[in-house]
Amino acid sequence: MNGFFKFIILLSLLMASDVFAHQPEENLSLQYLKKLVLPDNGIGVREAGSIGEQKSAKFISDEFKKFGYEVTLQSFDFKIKEKTLSSANIVIDTGNTLLPTIIVGAHYDSTAKNKGSFGAIDNGTGVAAMLEIASILVENSPTNFNIRFIAFGAEEVGLVGSKYYVNSLKLEEVANIVGMINFDTIAGGDFVYVHSANSTPYRCTKSDLPYSNSTILRNAVVLASQNQDDEQSQFIVHAESKGYPKGETGPWSDHYAFACAGIPIAYVESTNFTINGEAGFDGYSQTINPLLWDCFDAKTQGACHRESEKKWGQIWHTEYDQLTILETQYPNRIKKQLSNTVATIAKFLLAPNNYLAH
Ligand SMILES: [Zn+2]
Repeated sequence: MNGFFKFIILLSLLMASDVFAHQPEENLSLQYLKKLVLPDNGIGVREAGSIGEQKSAKFISDEFKKFGYEVTLQSFDFKIKEKTLSSANIVIDTGNTLLPTIIVGAHYDSTAKNKGSFGAIDNGTGVAAMLEIASILVENSPTNFNIRFIAFGAEEVGLVGSKYYVNSLKLEEVANIVGMINFDTIAGGDFVYVHSANSTPYRCTKSDLPYSNSTILRNAVVLASQNQDDEQSQFIVHAESKGYPKGETGPWSDHYAFACAGIPIAYVESTNFTINGEAGFDGYSQTINPLLWDCFDAKTQGACHRESEKKWGQIWHTEYDQLTILETQYPNRIKKQLSNTVATIAKFLLAPNNYLAH
């Protein structure tokens, strides 16, 4: 190769790297999110029992397999309006299943297609982060714990997949589970929280096991988030509000069946508990962004006209749960929240005892 050609190649390499330098680096979880939720070059809507949900199940299984994990599919049927539909949980383990096991779970179905939702934050974000963490643990799984990742089907139609999974466990398997981290809508809202189960027990259908409202797992992941570089990346424990104990959450996601089986839970959720929403400061309103309110009153942190407000700052289950809209409204927010949660939870899972002992 002569000097001139070497020069040309060097020059083009420099130009290529310069182009990359000007592109914001895309984390793995954001790439997964796009593949799951973008309707044109991804899967898009993923309602329970639909083709979209099945495509997502295949996508998630294939990614787990690419990492080298052995995938277990747990299929189940459920009924909606007399119609029998099918779904499945997708399960992998990073280590020996006899070791103390920590579960990370995220539902992969979406809902509110009729309202225009593509389930970008609910729960494309949870699945995307789970996949990236599973990829990190391929090389670095802890030796004294097994980490189990579960993508749950049919959450939005009654927590069907997670209830089915917990019901399928033998007592000794339940006893082996240290805790369950639930990822449901982990990015998109104004802040990222982590909750434990309510101190007032959920109404559990399977009542032969003691209910757990243990805060051990919640506190461990809060601790793991503490020395993230900036304060913004730390998990928040929401303040107490009327009828709403500090840091606790209700039974409306996949953690429910685990708490009912006596398993400590930590539920990562992106929302905004400082908003005086439809039912008060309950975290159901996710953002103060005026686009998502008919009229937001900054002074009262709530609707200007409570009687006529329709939007209530909600992203989930609405037309605003689309990645393209959210990226325009909140440039880089989802990417940042995803990478913070991935970093924190991976850090915790790589050395659980460093955080659980406290
Ligand atoms: Zn959800």
